[in-house]
Amino acid sequence: MPNIAKVIVDLSLDREFDYLIPDDLVGVITVGSRVEVPFGHSWKTGFVMALADSSSFPDLKSIRNTVGEGAYLAEDVIQLARWISDYYLCPFELTIRTMLPAPVRRRDARFRKQKLVDITETGKKVAADGAIKAPKQKTVLDWLVKNGPSPQREVIAECSVTTAVIKALEEKKWVEAGEGKRIRNPFKDHQVVPTLPLHLMPQQKDALDACCKAIDKKEPEVILLNGVTGSGKTEVYLQAIAYTVAQGKGAIVLVPEIALTPQTVDRFRARFGDVVAVLHSDLSDGERHDEWHRIRKGDARIVVGARSALFAPLPNPGLIVVDEEHEHSYKQDESPRYNARDMAVMRGHIIPCAVILGSATPSLESVLNVRKGKYRQVVMPHRIDHRKMPAMRIVDLKLDAEASGRPNVLSADLVEAIRIRLDKKEQVMLFLNRRGFSSSLLCPKCGEAPKCNQCSVTLTYHKATQKLMCHFCASEFPVPTRCPNPQCRDPNFKHAGIGTQRIEEVVNKIFPHARIVRMDSDTMTQRESYRTVLGDFRTGKIDILIGTQMIAKGLDFPNVTLVGVVLADMSLQVPDFRSAERTFQLLTQVAGRAGRGDVSGEVIVQTFSPHHWSIQAARRMDFEAFADQELAFREELEYPPYSHMICLTCRGPDAAVVESAIQKVADGMNAANLKGITISGPAPSPLARLKGQYRFQLIFRSRQTAAMTRPLREVLRGMKWPKNVGFAIDVDALDFM
Ligand code: ADP
Ligand code: ZN
Repeated sequence: MPNIAKVIVDLSLDREFDYLIPDDLVGVITVGSRVEVPFGHSWKTGFVMALADSSSFPDLKSIRNTVGEGAYLAEDVIQLARWISDYYLCPFELTIRTMLPAPVRRRDARFRKQKLVDITETGKKVAADGAIKAPKQKTVLDWLVKNGPSPQREVIAECSVTTAVIKALEEKKWVEAGEGKRIRNPFKDHQVVPTLPLHLMPQQKDALDACCKAIDKKEPEVILLNGVTGSGKTEVYLQAIAYTVAQGKGAIVLVPEIALTPQTVDRFRARFGDVVAVLHSDLSDGERHDEWHRIRKGDARIVVGARSALFAPLPNPGLIVVDEEHEHSYKQDESPRYNARDMAVMRGHIIPCAVILGSATPSLESVLNVRKGKYRQVVMPHRIDHRKMPAMRIVDLKLDAEASGRPNVLSADLVEAIRIRLDKKEQVMLFLNRRGFSSSLLCPKCGEAPKCNQCSVTLTYHKATQKLMCHFCASEFPVPTRCPNPQCRDPNFKHAGIGTQRIEEVVNKIFPHARIVRMDSDTMTQRESYRTVLGDFRTGKIDILIGTQMIAKGLDFPNVTLVGVVLADMSLQVPDFRSAERTFQLLTQVAGRAGRGDVSGEVIVQTFSPHHWSIQAARRMDFEAFADQELAFREELEYPPYSHMICLTCRGPDAAVVESAIQKVADGMNAANLKGITISGPAPSPLARLKGQYRFQLIFRSRQTAAMTRPLREVLRGMKWPKNVGFAIDVDALDFM
């Protein structure tokens, strides 16, 4: 039996320390155990990352004890952590931290042993009589009648009373109090109606067969489930999960954070009941702690959650599902900047187990993997009960402006369509597919946005220098006085200042009697207000909902019959080579919002680029045509998925200092004289200044990530960073802002 443990201590030291396992704990301590160890002059907790028979260090100290039972981290998760640290250039210790929810990691984390309070039979009678003098005691009794046995703390908080009140009730024998362990169940107030497996449509049956074959296989297999919105993907997941569980294995389902609503979770709970655990940032710390341990002990076999649920300590996973696999929110925006979709495939590979990636608009990364034969694709082209997808109409804003003599926020066609829907008491969504900020220049007359002649990326406008810049290759261009489009040459070429607020003003003016609500990150500061607005919209208290892509995701409003995309060019002109892909995805997604009910829906897309392939393909719902054209473009310019890209961003209060620091990294990489790596920049980031910090970026491109990360790690190790300069490395970056 190995008696040396390699322990990682929660101290940001990024290394493992060897400890001796005392005789009585040999065989008890395993990889993933949580242990208490002497460190310096104190005791620290840590996690065992590996066992060994010998150590190269003399005089090892001994582990004092274990904390909690069994392994906190499964071996496959630890292996995944090593892989993530290496691939995403992140300290191992930080990756481990990311994998464990804070309430589990905390030193004092445990199940709450707490005082439970319950009402006695006498107490119930007294409460029913209503003959109590003390109003506070009455409140407590009434509350207990309604809520049943509850932790004393909760009773005190909910009834706004002191412990003295509980004491008094105890003395009268109206309540009893005692110690108890309680699982904090996030669903305790919430019942769902159970559902049975549906009889599958042929396309679903084929998809399920493919999934079950993958689950049966010994080798890991990845299935790309490419099914239009409403094609019944979720039912396929449910039955594939049932198949997995029947084999005594567990399943993890990842959904984008924004789609992790009670409705989504309920579909799983309605089918599987209490074996479903949810890992969600909305849970209280206590709930998260308890759910996590419920999974670890095998009491919950199905885990539904956002990104980090991928690391759930599920014993014996047989299936990992990633719904809406193209979603950018699967990428973590702090170190480790992992993509949960890619890491799901990796974990599936390590375990090994089956992985299902589902989407109506798969990422081009996944599409290329299908074309290379790495993933198996199953297509579900039809909506359930063959309801038609809504018709998409493209409105050319240039023609509209010509007809009315001036540029309009809402074209005559869109205004007319809204009027018709409002008259019929149907609902409308207006949608501005803006992403973050937009600092591209856009001609208000023809919609032209100047592009870099080398990189085909939209140029960004830098206010400070009054220049247009390509943030990929750092070329600078003067701001043209007229629109660069030779057919247009409009002198009003200037900042495209359209936002949701402006749309709201315009809509209010045209439809003064409509009930209009704007929903974007400015108005929706709290999750709660987001839910309230969606609730009001669902119950028909709002006629027109205006928003950013926030309103496009996975929502189902049967009475929405018209969706208007106010300016498709907004996402098309984002300075990013993925702008066409994003546009296609957004348009397809919003189209899925219209006509979910019995009335057929309509989508109107306003744009200056009516002929762009992403818009045309979205109109025809032709995913393959879009993928063909977009992949050809990516291949020619060697953009992902034909290469990997790393974005290094440096920031600091002094632009010159930041620039010279990042230049040193560039010099270091250039000096290494590497083959097969393209280095672009350094250049100011499109978001050149943020919170008083100047930001510069350096972009590396290569077919192999390791070909870049290996030398980069060396260069960074030798760097002496000036004070106040911070940096971030984003491997397989999705966001170049
Ligand atoms: P997707 O996830 O592909 O958007 P859903 O799984 O949400 O599609 O299915 C859309 C709707 O069709 C849901 O209301 C679902 O209950 C229903 N549905 C799915 N499969 C079937 C089936 N085989 N028979 C009847 N209704 C189904
Ligand atoms: Zn360029």
